[in-house]
Amino acid sequence: MKLSRRDFLKLSGATTGSLLLPGGLALAAKGKTFPLHKPIGETPTICCFCAVGCGAIVASQNGKVVNLEGDPDHPINQGTLCSKGQALAQINLDVGNKRLRKPLYRAAGASEWEEISWEEAIEGIARKIKETRDKYFTVQDDEGRTVNRLEAIASLGGAALDNEECSLIVKAMRALGMVYIEHQARI
Ligand code: SF4
Repeated sequence: MKLSRRDFLKLSGATTGSLLLPGGLALAAKGKTFPLHKPIGETPTICCFCAVGCGAIVASQNGKVVNLEGDPDHPINQGTLCSKGQALAQINLDVGNKRLRKPLYRAAGASEWEEISWEEAIEGIARKIKETRDKYFTVQDDEGRTVNRLEAIASLGGAALDNEECSLIVKAMRALGMVYIEHQARI
């Protein structure tokens, strides 16, 4: 039998329809329909916990995170996530409801933490830095060499900091004369 291209398309469409129809009728008879559109959104993202930079896919429903998993198409991790990455969804406030949302302060010698405002926390930190720098800033070392350094405060950066934040932090720390500037990766 000789088939034209049009005949072939008609024939294959009819065959496909007859294959799908029984299943469709069975579902219709039970009053069910296929869930054609799931209301789940998927957004690719990067794990912020360390400099490996694994890719992840965040699933969200009605604006809330409902799942997070490794991105199988990402060239670095190819779908895998380490234990920290698997807990990545917890940095979302809806999921990670154990996260601290306000600064806590424990006075010297006290056993209890108290909640304070961000303004109090920032002012307190700034005051301590100023007092410590005023007291310990070294202009010259024991041999009379100019050093202009502050060894009484150290800075420990976090892996969740991005390049721009790291750049600003290092500039601020160097401006204070600090020399002990480190990073916490994989501690
Ligand atoms: S913390 Fe784990 S999942 Fe996240 S980027 Fe680093 S290795 Fe990848």
